[in-house]
Amino acid sequence: MIEYPIPRHLKGIFTVKDFERNSLDGKIVCECGCENFKVLYFGNEYKNGHIDCLKYKDGFAMNVTAVCVSCGKEHLLFDLAEHGFDGFINSNGIKIPDNELKEFNCCKSGFNIEMQIETCDKENFAEDFTGAEKFSAEDYVDAFNWLVINLECPNCKKTFRDFVNIELS
Ligand SMILES: [Zn+2]
Ligand SMILES: [Zn+2]
Repeated sequence: MIEYPIPRHLKGIFTVKDFERNSLDGKIVCECGCENFKVLYFGNEYKNGHIDCLKYKDGFAMNVTAVCVSCGKEHLLFDLAEHGFDGFINSNGIKIPDNELKEFNCCKSGFNIEMQIETCDKENFAEDFTGAEKFSAEDYVDAFNWLVINLECPNCKKTFRDFVNIELS
């Protein structure tokens, strides 16, 4: 069985649809089986349904959190301060308090969520970082290079492709 490079914070909720080269495609499914989530975010929202990093205090922040509409469990999908090469390796990005999160809405019936993750090459990561005692070879799954999050409203079927589309290295 292939061991997919699923970032650690998504283990258990990321269902792999496709994995080719360093590109991992999947959808978010709650542990309760539900695929419908309320979407909370911090970021600069554009009218066409894309978000980008937003200045916060003396840096930049972005956060996307999914809340299961069935069981209410919160799942952090992305935080610029923790995930991806820039956040995980370089500690770029600032954490925002939960009360800064806003809800993204279409028909108020939640969203189905797809994620595409361009992962870091395992061997390159091991060569470049394992010498520094701060990181271990297994950390490459959290140092991904690119993230796309697509949303679909289950009510009107409108899709928000590239709700997030961010290079992280
Ligand atoms: Zn749930
Ligand atoms: Zn809708």
